[in-house]
Amino acid sequence: MADNAARQLSRMFYRISIAIEAGKDHLSDLDGAIGDADHGITMSLGFMAVNAELAKLNLDDTLPSEVLTAAASAFLDAVGASTGPLYATAFRRAAQALKQEDCLSSTGQAAIVEAMTTGIMERGKGQRGDKTMLDAWIPATEAAASARARAASS
Ligand SMILES: [Mg+2]
Repeated sequence: MADNAARQLSRMFYRISIAIEAGKDHLSDLDGAIGDADHGITMSLGFMAVNAELAKLNLDDTLPSEVLTAAASAFLDAVGASTGPLYATAFRRAAQALKQEDCLSSTGQAAIVEAMTTGIMERGKGQRGDKTMLDAWIPATEAAASARARAASS
């Protein structure tokens, strides 16, 4: 089982971390326009903590939902600012959406993105157009839903 869903998710988190590192200054600049200019640092800390936590798991014997639950705890422990609870909620909701599934179908992948966005909206009481991360997450959810529909019809 070199390439099970838990490993795929773990690799995704690693790649997210690399992308966050590369975009760290840009994220903080964007945050600085209306906030305290720490979003790049916050996201970097959060995803580094996630990767450190996932490295402790035996991924051969881990469900995708368990990867996401571990990510939620690690992110929350590492990030105190509002981003911490928001992403922790998002990852927990994603874990709940997958339940005990041991693979990541296109339906499951779309469900992850939808559950994360719903979690962020409910926790943060935000909407599209509020100039928050939801302005990225809501379009991502729509893209995931159309990708799922394409997969279902092909
Ligand atoms: Mg900030």
